[in-house]
Amino acid sequence: MSGTSRRSPKETESKHLPIYRHRDKLVQAVKSSTFLVVTGETGSGKTTQLPQYLHEAGFCKDGRIGITQPRRVAAITVAQRVAQEMQCTLGKEVGYQVRFDDCTSQDTQVKYMTDGCLLREILADPGLSQYSVIILDEVHERSLNTDILMGLLKKIFSDPDKATKGRSFPLKVVVMSATLETEKLSAFLSDCPVFAIPGRAFPVTCTFGSAVGPKDIESTAYVKEVVKVALDVHTSEMAGDILVFLTGQSEIERACDLLFEKAECIDYRYDVHDRTVEGLLILPLYGSMPTDQQRQIFQPPPKGIRKCVVATNIAATSLTINGIKYIVDSGFVKQLNHNSRVGMDVLEVVPISKSEAQQRAGRAGRTSPGKCFRIFSKDFWETCMPEYTVPEIQRTSLTAVVLTLKCLGVHDVVRFPYLDRPEERFILEALKQLYQFDAIDRRGTVTDLGKLMVEFPLHPGLTRAVLRAASVGCEDLLLPVAAMLSVENIFIRPGHPEKQKQADQRHRALAAKTGSMNDFATLLSVFQLCKSSDRPSAWCKDNWIHWRALKSAFSVETQLREILLRLQQKRDFPAETFDGNKSELFRRCLCTGYFNNVARRSVGKVFCTMDGHGSMVHIHPSSSLFDQEAELNWVIFHDVLVTSRVYIRTVCPIRYEWVKDLLPKLHEVDVYELSSVAREEVTEEEMVKWEMKEAAKRPSEVSAADA
Ligand code: ADP
Ligand code: MG
Repeated sequence: MSGTSRRSPKETESKHLPIYRHRDKLVQAVKSSTFLVVTGETGSGKTTQLPQYLHEAGFCKDGRIGITQPRRVAAITVAQRVAQEMQCTLGKEVGYQVRFDDCTSQDTQVKYMTDGCLLREILADPGLSQYSVIILDEVHERSLNTDILMGLLKKIFSDPDKATKGRSFPLKVVVMSATLETEKLSAFLSDCPVFAIPGRAFPVTCTFGSAVGPKDIESTAYVKEVVKVALDVHTSEMAGDILVFLTGQSEIERACDLLFEKAECIDYRYDVHDRTVEGLLILPLYGSMPTDQQRQIFQPPPKGIRKCVVATNIAATSLTINGIKYIVDSGFVKQLNHNSRVGMDVLEVVPISKSEAQQRAGRAGRTSPGKCFRIFSKDFWETCMPEYTVPEIQRTSLTAVVLTLKCLGVHDVVRFPYLDRPEERFILEALKQLYQFDAIDRRGTVTDLGKLMVEFPLHPGLTRAVLRAASVGCEDLLLPVAAMLSVENIFIRPGHPEKQKQADQRHRALAAKTGSMNDFATLLSVFQLCKSSDRPSAWCKDNWIHWRALKSAFSVETQLREILLRLQQKRDFPAETFDGNKSELFRRCLCTGYFNNVARRSVGKVFCTMDGHGSMVHIHPSSSLFDQEAELNWVIFHDVLVTSRVYIRTVCPIRYEWVKDLLPKLHEVDVYELSSVAREEVTEEEMVKWEMKEAAKRPSEVSAADA
């Protein structure tokens, strides 16, 4: 398609973006080198404009332009915007793909997607033969998948055979980032050129508060405080929109509720009819929000109304909202971290880094001078906030990516070109888990089962359970559960105490219907009951269930079933027989995937995990097994929530015999054997130290009498 023929009304708007003046030079720079780093202030037009420039310059003659985003909302929202700018229907020339939602077609030339999706595509097509250009966006975010993609693309190009295999034209790779670390990126990609888009940022005055100090790391007082500060800004500052940075969906919803209540007070105090008092338009923004609601965020508020967006970190760099003049910064972020106390990844609220705080403040100075109100103290800034955010690769579980790498033929995962190397123990931990799931053998080579597992966009443990179920012919029990665990929380928990009681009662009743108290079975039952209902949305309303989440679960289940069918037709699929009742079969399949999440009741209501960490855990109040602890001995669980206590959530009672043969697997394997490379590099002294540490972690023998 020739690019000169279409002109949209949005075009005048996009001509004012800083990137516009550099259009020709940018296109030229992409043409003339394999790798290119592009940097520029957030909001300069990199994400929305560069793909269009390349499209118009004819880059789509040979293939698609693929742009990755670490966040799914960003991929969807930006694709919508670009489709609008290019005046085409979303899913046609411009489309997006995120996990479980593919909005592309044969015609798609500009494809926005999550970094995880591109990683899956490389598995199916290592030469990326569909693409003429790959743009890795938001590289400064340092998401796990983007980091791995950087290493993979570097590796593909260091091997000329692979780089041209299956393609008739050279692939171009553009790496885009806010201004941080560009030299490091260029050095990593064979000293490639850097294209810096000069931007103009206006000064932002930052003030510190006193509400959150070094002692408040674990308190949740920041929600009330941001509300208070946002209202102060609203009543005392000149016109201009407000952007509040909070941590996650529930905190954001709570803050919005509080703002609604308090905003009414303002109207009351100042007399609603007094036109000099601006109204406040309150808009939440977080990952799992419906897209039509997200669109509102970008629209300018009606005249005389001030917009107040309450957002997660997504508004820090991924999405730019015009008109923001005031920032209210909570100083916290919700982050997936490997928690060494419990030995698994946990979603935690932690202080942001100083560089992140600066980035947040910068959002107020895009088009004019702005103000940033930090609710935390200078002391908090100095003592609790690290200089930079630690890249995800250095703080989360690598199990899934290591399996992907192994399936891509990267056997030596220790010496893979990492932009920042993860600690070796994390790599070893991942290998150990994969071995426990039978995805790799003792030599670290992928097994047939591992090759099946990698096809599912799920956590390896959950995949393992699904595959076990499929091999005994009861996938109908596990696929819905896997789907329900892959969507946002389905249970509605209203803020109002009376309604909360009602909802809790309903949820308990649903759990009781299954006959056995087991949270996984409840998920299955909710799925089935709703699906077979004549009026599913009304059924959800009656039972305080999120209809939107369930609709997604239905679609996810279908997609997982399709993957399974495809694999069953294509490959030799393991088959087993099982006699026993359905409830036992169901729970045994779960055990195959969750045997590293086993806990045994120790005293009273306290359970002890059996994964070598021996953490003391409690059943979360949201579980149907809460308050039934006395009747339990052994349980498995889906995840944990760490507050002052460690809670296990989505729990299922099991019998010791079902995990008896699996549990030793958690301890028997010598991690060094799995990574022959690591073994060569480790000194004997280190090895002995490691062994001693492992031995100390081992729980005392468990007697079968406990069962
Ligand atoms: P960068 O990638 O350099 O941070 P973007 O391309 O994301 O910049 O943003 C460029 C401009 O496009 C910004 O002014 C932003 O507000 C606008 N924009 C992006 N997405 C949307 C949208 N969905 N609706 C309205 N404006 C948008
Ligand atoms: Mg961008």
